[in-house]
Amino acid sequence: MLSEVEVERLYIAKLYADEEDRKNEIHVTDLTAPCSRQVFYEKKSPTPEPIENMLRMTEGKLLHKLFLLGQSEVEIKWSGVKGRIDEYENGIIIEKKFVDFVPNNILEVQKYYTHYIEQVAFYAVMLVNQGYEFKQAFLLFVKRGEQNERGRKPLKAFDITPLIDLNKAEVEFLNRKGMLEAVLANDEPPEIPPNFSPFDYPCSYCKYSVRCYSGV
Ligand code: SF4
Repeated sequence: MLSEVEVERLYIAKLYADEEDRKNEIHVTDLTAPCSRQVFYEKKSPTPEPIENMLRMTEGKLLHKLFLLGQSEVEIKWSGVKGRIDEYENGIIIEKKFVDFVPNNILEVQKYYTHYIEQVAFYAVMLVNQGYEFKQAFLLFVKRGEQNERGRKPLKAFDITPLIDLNKAEVEFLNRKGMLEAVLANDEPPEIPPNFSPFDYPCSYCKYSVRCYSGV
């Protein structure tokens, strides 16, 4: 016989058991992270995600199991950086994002989700350099929970192909990789950027905010 609490613990333990160890690898999402200090901590002395965050991320993980194209969760590696493309087929990339705020138009995508555009551009660079075709890229946004905002859709796809310049993206990819390698070669984390505050993005969403701001 199991108790109710034991069932809950089983679920939580399973959530953490499926987590990957990325400490000794650089991923595309590290290159597009908003804070290199955060990446430093993730690689050198990571803190596990709070249980609430893990539960919140479950929906997103399930979304990624809804496969859309011929190849899903495609592992790719180029120039020492790893990536996992959500969906790929015949030169088409679809990257799925589970979000609280679904953009209405491409201007909102560019305003709030530039890091996602960069992520897909970097995937395109990696594909081309590995001899794969790249023709088109989409960001597919899915609303987390109910869509209560009038006039805003719960599901919206954007063709971001015109925003991707492969030459510029490759230069940026290699710059970011070089900067991140320099950060990770140090024993101390980089300084907190002067314009960052514990109450604003990205620190307000960051699990390292106590480590950064408490002074302990
Ligand atoms: S709390 Fe802010 S400065 Fe510290 S690691 Fe997180 S994002 Fe970077």
